Amino acid sequence: MPRIALPNKGRLPEDVRNLLDDAGLPIRGKSERCLTASVGGEFEAIFVRAQDIPEFVADGAADLGITGADLVAESGCALNELLDLEFGRCRLVVAVRDDSGITSLAELAGRPRVASSFPRLTRDFFANRGIAVEVVPVSGAAEIAPHLGIADIVVDLTSTGSTLKVNGLREIAPVMSSSARLVGRCDSAGQPWAQELTIALSSVLRARGQRYVMANVPKDRLAEVCERLPGLNGPTMSEVFGGGRFLAMHAVVAAPAIYKTVAALKALGCEGILVTRIERLMP
Ligand code: AMP
Repeated sequence: MPRIALPNKGRLPEDVRNLLDDAGLPIRGKSERCLTASVGGEFEAIFVRAQDIPEFVADGAADLGITGADLVAESGCALNELLDLEFGRCRLVVAVRDDSGITSLAELAGRPRVASSFPRLTRDFFANRGIAVEVVPVSGAAEIAPHLGIADIVVDLTSTGSTLKVNGLREIAPVMSSSARLVGRCDSAGQPWAQELTIALSSVLRARGQRYVMANVPKDRLAEVCERLPGLNGPTMSEVFGGGRFLAMHAVVAAPAIYKTVAALKALGCEGILVTRIERLMP
């Protein structure tokens, strides 16, 4: 059975579990704290630190892994990114003390010390820009380093920016954007189980952004309704038994457009409007 390395704690596990659940691959361990589990009877999960996952996959301890793109990049492992899972979104940024008065990289003087738990990405970022820095590797909580006098600036992850703000720091430059990724070794894309999992997860992700709309549409307003509802291949219309002047319409609509779409359908005289979530969507 192929083995998949999953994060054991922190920000990612809950979203990972929900995604696999939605794909029909529930994680079932013998107990809450076990180190391995079955994933829908198709994969064996091993639960490890998110930082260790790229290495585990590269070494062959696991066949696939789910972890942050930032951690994959920092590891330097040559992995195949099979799918962007769209959660765990964050950015790796350069930040300075709010009271430093510095607003851009160009203003960095001397050879500033940069605290980061991403020493490789930090070194590459400044080297590529010809800025001399001393990298101070830390294992976490880099944001405290400027206040302890350990470093002048930090390279750290942020999503809303609120942790930076609380710690009296201000972003001056982006390093990279990140989100959770499904990764495998370079040869994994050709494996049937990797392909099946990628298709299953991408169909769930695609479905999350869409809604299924059904309505009875007056035949004389058909053209106007179709204009409002492009659907995947245009809306489907079928005769309603004894439906008189109505046709039954089915369409897939982007979730953010549902509010306006339902109002428009109602205004065009549609009846029996029904909106549901979609579990999986494969075009
Ligand atoms: P953690 O659970 O804090 O060890 O973080 C694991 C991964 O979650 C990180 O490597 C990022 O890919 C992701 N992540 C998403 N949002 C954030 C954030 N605001 N701060 C830190 N990590 C984040």
